[in-house]
Amino acid sequence: MRRPLVAGNWKMNGDKKNIATLVAGLLSLKCKADVVVFPPYVYILQVLTGLSGTAVAVGAQNISEYKSGAYTGEISSEMLRDIGCQYCLVGHSERRSLYGENDRQVAKKFHQAQLAGLKPILCLGETLKQREKGKTFDLISAQIDTVLDCAGVNSLSDAIIAYEPVWAIGTGKPATIDQIQLVHQYIREKLGASGVKTRILYGGSVTPANTAELLFQADIDGVLVGGASLDIDTFNEMCQLA
Ligand code: PEP
Repeated sequence: MRRPLVAGNWKMNGDKKNIATLVAGLLSLKCKADVVVFPPYVYILQVLTGLSGTAVAVGAQNISEYKSGAYTGEISSEMLRDIGCQYCLVGHSERRSLYGENDRQVAKKFHQAQLAGLKPILCLGETLKQREKGKTFDLISAQIDTVLDCAGVNSLSDAIIAYEPVWAIGTGKPATIDQIQLVHQYIREKLGASGVKTRILYGGSVTPANTAELLFQADIDGVLVGGASLDIDTFNEMCQLA
């Protein structure tokens, strides 16, 4: 059985005080799912310290595609592992659309993360235009193939993928259960035998109102939550539903 995973992406929000409130709220969390939060970089150590001894893991929202060296302003996977992070996001749609990250860069980041012992969550998904043109499956297939090519044919077998249709992120309009399950099933079938253990999360306007139904689907193994993860009671409620 694949263990459910609930991931909270705090994006570029919060300050020291507000992050302390989120951490304090997580201390009382009891649930069966794996839980990870992604604070902004400068607060990662604060969160790691605050959550030490709990089952809640901490990750980074982005990493360098390089191992180490003269890359001013970048943070490597090994550094994150060194301070105690367990996860990182790669290829979030905001990184792709606002910072021009392409499939090859995302695949390199995924590979670096795995080499360093981090668990990368590979984010992928189509824009509304791509969906309307019937390109959803081709696009997702290409995004996955680039990772398999760069990180190895079995690199996704014990990994985590987050399907996040761009048009559902931060819009309050999640994809329908049927749309989501179809894409997740497509990803699982594409990975074949090596995809049996792959955890495939859904992200895009997830709230407590749709969490249970999402997680009831055969190929939905968890949720990646943006906006709703910034309210700790709401986030904890989603974790408990998983
Ligand atoms: C996200 O940014 O990954 C996300 C899913 O955001 P939201 O939950 O706010 O749609």
